[in-house]
Amino acid sequence: MSRTCTHLDQINDVDPSGTGCVECLAAGKHNWVHLRVCQECGHVACCDNSPGKHATAHNHTTTHPIIRSYEPGEDWYYCYPDDLMFELEGAPPAPSHP
Ligand SMILES: [Zn+2]
Ligand SMILES: [Zn+2]
Ligand SMILES: [Zn+2]
Repeated sequence: MSRTCTHLDQINDVDPSGTGCVECLAAGKHNWVHLRVCQECGHVACCDNSPGKHATAHNHTTTHPIIRSYEPGEDWYYCYPDDLMFELEGAPPAPSHP
């Protein structure tokens, strides 16, 4: 049985908020592993392998459902409520940080 994400209408044409995790930078830290971009508001935050886990924290505080990888060469999306990783055909080119 294949599952599909039911939150695709919450993917916006977002501009990433910056080149680093918003919360880590605000705390003066620079120790994230990978970056993710919220597809509802463009908030950039660090992944679950990073000390801050701010992408997941952003989902918890805002309930914005979908993130996309912000890493060069990675094109996937992840939906928190569906616990589903997927790629979208015809999606805009993945943004990535410098
Ligand atoms: Zn979903
Ligand atoms: Zn962070
Ligand atoms: Zn968001």
